[in-house]
Amino acid sequence: MPDVLSPSSENPLASSSQFVKGVGPQRYEKLLKLNLLTVGDLLFYLPRAYEALTNRLKIVDLKQNDEAQTIIGEVVEIEGRTTNSGKEMVSIVLSDGGSTVLEAVYFNQPFVSNRLRYGMLVACTGKPRRYRGHWQMNNPRLRPVDQATMADESSEVLPLYGLTEGLHAEAMRRIQREVVNRYAAAVREIVPAVLLSRHSLPRVADALKAIHIPNTMGEAETGRKRLAYDELLVLQVALGLQRRDQQVISKAVPLPRSRLVDERIRKLLPFDLTKGQENAVHQICDDLSKERPMRRLLQADVGAGKTAVAVYAMLVAVANKHQAALMAPTEVLARQHWRTLNKYLSNSKVRMEFLVGGMSEHDRRVALGEIKRGQIDIVIGTQALIQNDIEFSNLGLVVIDEQHRFGVNQRATIRHKGLDPHYLVMTATPIPRSIALTVFGDLDIAVIRDLPPGRKPVKTTWTPEEERAELMTHLVEQMKKGRQLYVVCPMVEESADNDLKGAIDTAKLLSDGPFQGMRVGILHGRMDDRSKDAVMTQFSNKEIDCLVSTTVIEVGVDISNATMMVIEHAERFGMSQLHQLRGRVSRGPVAGECYLFANTATPEAKDRLKFFCKTVDGFLLAEKDLELRGMGEFFGTRQHGAGELKIANPVRDAELLSLARHDALELIQRDPGLQAPEHAGIRAAVLARYGNMLSLAGIG
Ligand code: ADP
Ligand code: MG
Repeated sequence: MPDVLSPSSENPLASSSQFVKGVGPQRYEKLLKLNLLTVGDLLFYLPRAYEALTNRLKIVDLKQNDEAQTIIGEVVEIEGRTTNSGKEMVSIVLSDGGSTVLEAVYFNQPFVSNRLRYGMLVACTGKPRRYRGHWQMNNPRLRPVDQATMADESSEVLPLYGLTEGLHAEAMRRIQREVVNRYAAAVREIVPAVLLSRHSLPRVADALKAIHIPNTMGEAETGRKRLAYDELLVLQVALGLQRRDQQVISKAVPLPRSRLVDERIRKLLPFDLTKGQENAVHQICDDLSKERPMRRLLQADVGAGKTAVAVYAMLVAVANKHQAALMAPTEVLARQHWRTLNKYLSNSKVRMEFLVGGMSEHDRRVALGEIKRGQIDIVIGTQALIQNDIEFSNLGLVVIDEQHRFGVNQRATIRHKGLDPHYLVMTATPIPRSIALTVFGDLDIAVIRDLPPGRKPVKTTWTPEEERAELMTHLVEQMKKGRQLYVVCPMVEESADNDLKGAIDTAKLLSDGPFQGMRVGILHGRMDDRSKDAVMTQFSNKEIDCLVSTTVIEVGVDISNATMMVIEHAERFGMSQLHQLRGRVSRGPVAGECYLFANTATPEAKDRLKFFCKTVDGFLLAEKDLELRGMGEFFGTRQHGAGELKIANPVRDAELLSLARHDALELIQRDPGLQAPEHAGIRAAVLARYGNMLSLAGIG
């Protein structure tokens, strides 16, 4: 969050982290690796976790689970010797009177024993493991304990920072203590005093101190909450200003729907709308009939049928003699929409145009001319293409499909004459309400919660490596029966420094091995659009049995005969992303099968995958994902702007979020220009973080 602080020469927070006491040139190098250039960076480099030293166990109750634990024991043995390999080893045996002892082992740190005496009471923190019938810890933290109070010399809670090679935990803690003690007071308060006292929030300097040098976990959490509130307030003020801006300034053409139009549209669609689709259509038509431009997000789980809703909305625009544009993130998807719309609208007089990257210069010029003159009703293409190129004659509605880049900064802008078009943004990333409020504070939301009739949930299995061969046999059998398979890999090629299964290598391994005789295709992000499209068409025409791909198939692809999926390195994906992938095989009447391979060590990743296997509700998964992984991870690396909440977690901090939202709205209502002196801080923070999206808001 240091970007909220305007760095200037008088600003001590802008001074280089190099000059912090205890840093020096070598540590400075390491800090640079962590992007900690300034004192401000350090101050806002928060611990990723804490280790509570208060939680002291009996030695017999230690567990070998890769987690640091603390015991208190009496020193009953101190032994120093040189190992066969020439290392100096110190072994200290601690006993708490129970049936087993703990041995603390140190290599090449002979000085450890200097501070210790037999009979001394010490607290010892480290990761225990069983060793020859007793417990052992390597390099644990030892410190004397006061016999009377049982308190040890350190604070009760140790912050754990993200580290880099050569920068040790204790050194980092020392640096951070120094920085906080010296500089925290210089951090500018951005929250108006009335709000601080209304919510009894600590001052920012105290919050930082509580976070970096806490006495208790509770204290650390209170500090974190304060910073989370700041972050949420800044975002909500920005969103509020943007919304106000739209309501006050923007005007659109109302696009009402008559009974007749409704009837005609329904005749074109090959199915009855589901309840959820009906609902969404209703809300959208309501928006379209107004003079205020629609800004609506339609979210629906994969396969819920967003396309039909989009088609409906576009036809309403066309019926009102206005143009509509449908933008997809990839050419593969744009082409799929083109095919679908052609099918639906073959009996209508709607004039459509498909814009692709590789059109001939001549065709393209003709198409652009027709669009500009209003001879085309619906334009379909990729977002990049439509945004950069086209001038419309009377654009009434823009539909953006599979939008993942939701940051407030990424509103699509399209060249058009006259009034603002209505916007419908569609996403299959099921976004919990808490997030929606955060990231899309400026959008209205419609949700489709049901699926078209007859869908069966995908059967998801986490397959142990030992059963791989058996699974391959099963898949081949199924392919021979005409079913199709996706194999998803996290990366394109294997690289020297990791063993992730690359799509290219995997495809080769499969077609040389278990899938011999099957037609194996490949699809990845480094192929050009035309080749991608060719492969997708082949797959869709059943000319390929197995499509090995990276996550490029994640988005929107609708091939109902593909009912099986294998995901390699599932531990690499968030649950929402896994769910998107899995959605590809829940399209037809046959129940899909999804198999995960994952070599995962962390218990948390295991929990995640297990939860995923047994949960089919995308919203539930998203909520859980968000809780576990936070915002940045949730949306993946592509996410920018508002998605990058660093401190607040909109699920866990839901209450704080609604406070911040309320405060922000009130603040804007009273002082829309943020001109009052007590709002100078928040104004600077909003401009620094979200200034580019607020160019019109008149607060710059
Ligand atoms: P998504 O919401 O993931 O974009 P699509 O619009 O691609 O979903 O629809 C998924 C599939 O469901 C398509 O094959 C579509 O024809 C079908 N579908 C959509 N709505 C209905 C409905 N009301 N009844 C039956 N099938 C439907
Ligand atoms: Mg779709």
